[in-house]
Amino acid sequence: MHRTGGPEVMEYVDVELAPPGPGEARVRHEAIGLNFIDVYFRTGLYPQLLPGGLGVEGAGIVEAVGEGVTEVKVGDRVAYAARINGAYAQQRNIPANLLLALPERIGFDTAAAMMLQGLTVQYLFHRTVALKAGDTILFHAAAGGVGLIACQWAKVLGVNLIGTVGSDEKAALASAHGAAHVINYNKENFVERVREITGGKGVSVVYDSIGKDTFTGSLDCLAPLGMMVSFGNASGPVPPFSLTELGSRGSLFITRPSLFSYASNRSNLEEMAASLFGVVSSGEVKVDVHQRYRLDEVARAHTELEARKTTGSSILLP
Ligand code: NDP
Repeated sequence: MHRTGGPEVMEYVDVELAPPGPGEARVRHEAIGLNFIDVYFRTGLYPQLLPGGLGVEGAGIVEAVGEGVTEVKVGDRVAYAARINGAYAQQRNIPANLLLALPERIGFDTAAAMMLQGLTVQYLFHRTVALKAGDTILFHAAAGGVGLIACQWAKVLGVNLIGTVGSDEKAALASAHGAAHVINYNKENFVERVREITGGKGVSVVYDSIGKDTFTGSLDCLAPLGMMVSFGNASGPVPPFSLTELGSRGSLFITRPSLFSYASNRSNLEEMAASLFGVVSSGEVKVDVHQRYRLDEVARAHTELEARKTTGSSILLP
């Protein structure tokens, strides 16, 4: 990318890759994750250095290591999700302390589909709030990549997840993945439905990755002392709001978390990954790849993701 903008600003080009520097490893990608955050970087909503690459997630094999690398060795199967753009490539250099050894039973496609989205659900459900059995939560975009993992993980924890989705087909998908209730927010008023489902009480936590379009409605779904977790902006960023909005609804809490702060030290990252690999290896959470695109088809991949045409996780194949 030389400039930010629509999908057309992504160019498929050859670039020279230097040998890995001190502390770096070169990874040959077998599969690359496609995530909504890539759209934010492409459009310029999130800043990045230009010219530069895109993509924050991949899985593959270590081809070479730089000086002082202890975390991985040549030939290792690895995966990562890290806030360093450049994953949309056949090979890249990356700090080795961001790489995780991939268990034998998890394939490269699954790994590229689940690292960022699965680690996100891990911290949202275990760290941002420690959910417990019997909790009732609202989770927007429940048939998306993060959403289908969240539906299943909530079921594992005994949490009643009320999911919102944009079509009846997506509603069926979220239900099949374990959502206790699903609301099609294009047809129904989600605030009224949440009040009905919870007998007027509201939910204890809302996970809102839609942003601008749902923010105020999400606050209205919370029970007193509830927690608003605003973790994305698929419809645009949340406009400034007054803190009195939290007080008048019953002393609400609010947080705006990012995976990259929760995973910013190696021991947290390893713990979170062990938890994710655990539920995926046991089969409790299944991460299917719903869309596969060749790397040179990435513009189409972005167009479909932004047009809400995808479900579940998507990968790019180099
Ligand atoms: P998804 O597969 O969930 O795709 C986004 C979905 O959002 C769409 O399919 C659509 O579902 C819904 N949506 C609602 N309004 C819009 C709109 N105006 N434009 C586009 N989509 C809309 O993407 P991901 O799984 O990659 O990510 C989900 C969200 O989680 C994103 O907002 C992402 O930024 C955020 N995220 C945040 C992280 C963090 O740590 N803070 C980490 C990872 C992801 P429907 O048709 O059902 O409404």
